[in-house]
Amino acid sequence: MKAAVLRRFEDGLKIEDVDVRVPKDREVLVRVMATGVCSSDLSTIRGKTNSALPLIPGHEAAGLVEKIGSGVSKVRVGDRVVLSWAPNCGHCFYCQESHPTLCDVYAGAAATGGLWDRTSRLGPADHPINHYSCVSSFAECVVVPETGCIRIDEEIPYDIAALVGCAVTTGFGAIVNDAAVRPGASVAVIGVGGVGVNALGAARLAGAEKIIGLDANAAKSSIALESGATHFIDVATGDAAEKVKALTQGRGVDHAIECTGRPTAMTMSYEMTRPGGTVVIVGIAPAGSALAIPAIGFPGSKKRIIGSIYGGGVPERDIQRVLSLYKSGRLPLARQVGQIIPLYRINEALSWLEEGVLKRTIVAPN
Ligand SMILES: [Zn+2]
Ligand SMILES: [Zn+2]
Repeated sequence: MKAAVLRRFEDGLKIEDVDVRVPKDREVLVRVMATGVCSSDLSTIRGKTNSALPLIPGHEAAGLVEKIGSGVSKVRVGDRVVLSWAPNCGHCFYCQESHPTLCDVYAGAAATGGLWDRTSRLGPADHPINHYSCVSSFAECVVVPETGCIRIDEEIPYDIAALVGCAVTTGFGAIVNDAAVRPGASVAVIGVGGVGVNALGAARLAGAEKIIGLDANAAKSSIALESGATHFIDVATGDAAEKVKALTQGRGVDHAIECTGRPTAMTMSYEMTRPGGTVVIVGIAPAGSALAIPAIGFPGSKKRIIGSIYGGGVPERDIQRVLSLYKSGRLPLARQVGQIIPLYRINEALSWLEEGVLKRTIVAPN
């Protein structure tokens, strides 16, 4: 199959012919019909997350089940599926504690670039290529654990399904699970990218009264307001935290959702949150960076800072919820879809993301 392989950070992605091996026990081979290009892919490809190479990135995807391994009962050949980039085992300490995004088995697999048994199904056996978050969807096909497959209806287009596989569920869950936004609340979303627009949309759905989108790119204003923001602040003009406070009776917001992965934006998110409020950190920071907050005021602030990954809840449940809201017309996801391009143009999509493209680029490898 054709796949976009990262062998050296300085070379970027190169399209290669890659062997994909048959799925093992409880694994599924899926033909990728749509895969979004997410900031996490970009960070990995640019070498910011210290990932081990060679690697096939891509984690926001949907496709068609083409082959199943022994013992698979969750899906059948011909099923249309969204792929989860954090498939959980169901049996470890965290799965038993109802925190599937913290699954130990998944964490071990993701850290080693393999699947459940920590080995790869990609490339020749003597020179395997690493999987990325148990997905690796910048390719014509993927092999994934069956728990990573979530069946979808005929009426859900693949491009929408792909978006729901990461950006939508991550932004939605940060609002409803981790921030637990209530009607009348004030919310700031820092970074109006793929995840940020969905956090804004979920804040509106949750009944937040003041919803402030912030971005260093003034061109994001229109998409922020269209996605649910009641206000937009251009961070590049300075004093963003003070501007947020001015909009919230001088106190700051109840919830700040940080989606950029920049440590300075994380500090700013803390500053613009009111005493007793919640800072939700969604953005993935570069390896080796640290989050700085003024320690002296922290105890008295009663603020909570929480990390949020994949929406922080139960991804499969949240993906189904989001798709129901889409089908009933309450989450207008189609307007998030930007250009749809073939796999060989993947590096263009990465450049557009760096330049601040307003909509999600979708790669259709088949
Ligand atoms: Zn993502
Ligand atoms: Zn587990």
